[in-house]
This record gives sequence, structure tokens and C-alpha cells, in this order.
Amino acid sequence: MSVWDELVGQGPVVDSLQAVIADPSTMTHAWLFTGPPGSGRSNAAKAFAAALQCPNGGCGSCEACAMVLGGTHPDVALVSTDGLSIGVKEARESVRRAALTPALGRWQILIVEDADRLTDQAANALLKSIEEPAPKSLWFLCATAVDDVMVTVRSRCRPVLMRTPSVDAIAGLLASRDGIDPVAARAAAAASQGHIGRAKLLATDEKARERRQQILGIPMRVTSLGQCLVAAQEIVEEAGVRAADIADAADTAELSNLRESWGVEATGGRKPGGYAGALTSLTKDQDRRRKRITRDAIDGVLIDLLAFCRDVVAAQVAPGSDLVNADVAADVAAAASRWTTESTLGRIDAIVECRRALDANAAPQLALERMMSGFLA
Ligand SMILES: [Zn+2]
Repeated sequence: MSVWDELVGQGPVVDSLQAVIADPSTMTHAWLFTGPPGSGRSNAAKAFAAALQCPNGGCGSCEACAMVLGGTHPDVALVSTDGLSIGVKEARESVRRAALTPALGRWQILIVEDADRLTDQAANALLKSIEEPAPKSLWFLCATAVDDVMVTVRSRCRPVLMRTPSVDAIAGLLASRDGIDPVAARAAAAASQGHIGRAKLLATDEKARERRQQILGIPMRVTSLGQCLVAAQEIVEEAGVRAADIADAADTAELSNLRESWGVEATGGRKPGGYAGALTSLTKDQDRRRKRITRDAIDGVLIDLLAFCRDVVAAQVAPGSDLVNADVAADVAAAASRWTTESTLGRIDAIVECRRALDANAAPQLALERMMSGFLA
């Protein structure tokens, strides 16, 4: 399996990256990978990095490929976002690293996973390194949309546009890579709305499927203000569970790394001086990260609700059309017969307005309660 295999539905992107590997004279020092969440933009950046360090152009089985994909290659650094933004301190550290001569590989590669979270100050710190790069340094920035990255930075990057992978492409990957039954793979792929990681979770985790059905039942269940408050709480809790799916494993791994690097296990649990401070700082970073992931997860729930209401409109105005939420087709049909098209559109407006408010940093519980009250119509 080569490093490119998981970039499903991204043929043109893979072709253009492979062309650069084949002809290094066309290399550019700064790249900007954009695409919707779950489309695999940071996987594409990692695959490109692996292919550049691999003696065989990204075979997927050599040591260089394994180290890059496993996050342990000394010449490929992932610039992490601990909180809601990447600060100037992390940016300066990355600039320093970009100037180093590669230890093993051919390039010194910096992957900035959430370039849209660079503060202006941090972006300015990167700018000089991107404008006048060290001969061996490469910057791979990743963001949802080109417009989210400061114009002075993005104008110096070569764009790589990831598409939302098709339902067929995701279903194919789940079947071939994860051995998931093709019918289940297809339903999960459709429900994920192009998000590969979410599709895999829905295909493999029955609890995640049950929670999804529970959430999609909300628009039909709320009939009083009291129920609005409960439903808002339910969404916050679901987001917390989704965030835990991602954050728990990372937290545990980081804690065990910390204990190992301070020799806590080796000394039978005795903690050396300085360890407590390092632990506090790690815990703080992890809390910030969890908050950010939870915020993204709330948006994920809202996108699911939006798709449900769109399916209801489709069922009302064009009966028999393909549904995103085929797994809850009975609920879609029930809502389509109970609601008027106008009130369904009102629910869609309420969700869109809520996403806008959250984007502007509104308190989640309040914004969600307000949205739910828009469902009562
Ligand atoms: Zn390789």
C-alpha cells in the first residue's frame, strides 16, 4: 500500500504532487492544502512529506515512510495547535526548526495543520521564513479555506485544493482498507457527508450510530421550551462524547510520554522535581485542545441536523430523491408529513444562525437553546 492510497477521490491532487516528486526542479517551498474538514488535507500533506523523504517516492513500506506517517521522522515536524490559536511562540520555534539542515532526509518539512488558527503575529513570524526559505526547508500549511489564511502568507503558497470525497470513494476505502461490509460502508459514507474519519466511526461503532439517531430525532421531539433546554444540553453532551473519542487517546499517549521522559516509571513512581510543573502545563494544553475539539464537534452535530432538515425539504418538494440520512429515512418521512415546507426552512435558518453565532464565540448552551426555540414553529 503506497502513501497515496488513503487520499480517496483526490486524483488531481495526487497527480500534481507526484509530478513534483518526479521532477524536483518544479518544487515550491510553501504549499497551502485546503479542503473541508475530513477531506484529508493534513493526510495529503503527510503523504507528500513521506513521498519526499522516501527513496522510492512514497512506497508506504520503507523506514522513511513509516517514520513520517507515524510522526517520528526527525525532519518532518507537525506544528501543533494546543488551543484555539497558534501563537507567536510556536511559530518562532517552527521558523528556527525550518532553518536546520535535515538530519536524515532530503528536506526539512514543517506541517502546520491548522494554518487558519495562526494569530496575525504568528503568521508574520512565519512570513519571513516563507519569503526567504532555507534551501532545504518546505512549509505545508493546511486550512479549511484559502481565505482563512492571512493574504501575505497565502499569496506565497502554491495551492492544493482537496475536494469533498464522494460517497462512493469513501465507501470504497472503508470496504477495502477496513474490511467493512459494502452496504454498511455506503450508509456510513453518506451519513458522514464526506468526512472520512466520521464515516469510519459510524461504520464501526454501534454506540456512535445510536447517538446519531438520537440527535437526529431532536427536531421531532421538541414541542415545549423546557424540551428546548434539555435538547440543547443533549447536543453539548454529544459533542463532549465526540470530542472524547478524539482527545482521550491523545491525552493518554502524551501523559505516558511525559512520565517516560521524566523517568517516573523507572524510579517506581517517584516524581522528580520539575515534573509537577510540566504536568500542569500539559494538562492546561490538553484542556484547551479538548475545548477546541468540543467546539468543532458541536458544529459537526449542527451539520448533521442541517442535513436532516434538508432531507425533509427534499422529501417534501421532490419525493423519492436520494437522502443523505438514508439510515433514518422513516424519521425524515414522518417530519416531511408533519411539518410544512415553510417551517422546515425556518428550522434550517435557525441552525444556520446558530452556527454563525458560535463562529462569533457565542456561549454554546445559549446559542443552542435559541436555535431550539426556532424549532418550535
Ligand atoms: Zn517509502
